[in-house]
Amino acid sequence: MSQDELQKFINLISRLPGIGQRSAQRIALYLIKNKQELMLPLGESIKETASVVKKCTNCGILDVIVPCKICSSENRSKTTICIVEDMADVWAFERSGYHKGLYHVIGGLLSASKNFTEQDLNLNKLKERIINNQVQEVILALSATIEGQTTALVIKDKLENQNIKITQLAYGVPVGSEIHYLDDNTLGAALESRKNLS
Ligand SMILES: [Zn+2]
Repeated sequence: MSQDELQKFINLISRLPGIGQRSAQRIALYLIKNKQELMLPLGESIKETASVVKKCTNCGILDVIVPCKICSSENRSKTTICIVEDMADVWAFERSGYHKGLYHVIGGLLSASKNFTEQDLNLNKLKERIINNQVQEVILALSATIEGQTTALVIKDKLENQNIKITQLAYGVPVGSEIHYLDDNTLGAALESRKNLS
C-alpha cells in the first residue's frame, strides 16, 4: 500500500519528540495553511541546516564551523570546561551569560534503561583537552537526577590524578522562590549544599 504524501508528512512530524498523531495533524495543517511564509522556508531551512551543521571535534557542540565558535573564540577562558549533557544545556548557559569558559558535551547520561553506557559518553577528547589547554577547573553541570549524578561520579573518577579542581553545580533554592513552596528533595539538597557567609 502506498502512502500518500500528506500522510507521509504527518507521520514524519509525529516522530518528533513529544508530538503524537493528532498534534502532527495540527502542525501539518498549520504549515499547509501558511505555505509561502512558513512551510517552504522551513523546508529550505531543514535542508540547509542538515547540510552545514557539524559536531565540534573538540567539544561536541553543534555549529557550522569546526572547531566551533566557542572553542575558537579569543574571549573565552580556556582553563575552565563545563561538562553538559547536550546542546540545549549549552544554549541555556549561553543565554545566562555567566559561563566564560569552554564546554564539553557528553551526549547523554548513563542509563541502563536507555542502553546508554560509558562507551557512549563523548569523553575521549576530554583528558587531551585538559592537558593541552592547561585546564584548571572542570564544572560538572549535569541533571540533578540519579542518572545525572551517576554520570557525574563516573566522570569524576576518570579525571582523578589530573591535578585539577572538579566542581559541580549547587542544588538548592531557585532564585526568587519562597522556602515553604520547595519540595522536600530540593530543600534537603539546598541544606546540604549550604555555604559559609563569613
Ligand atoms: Zn568546540
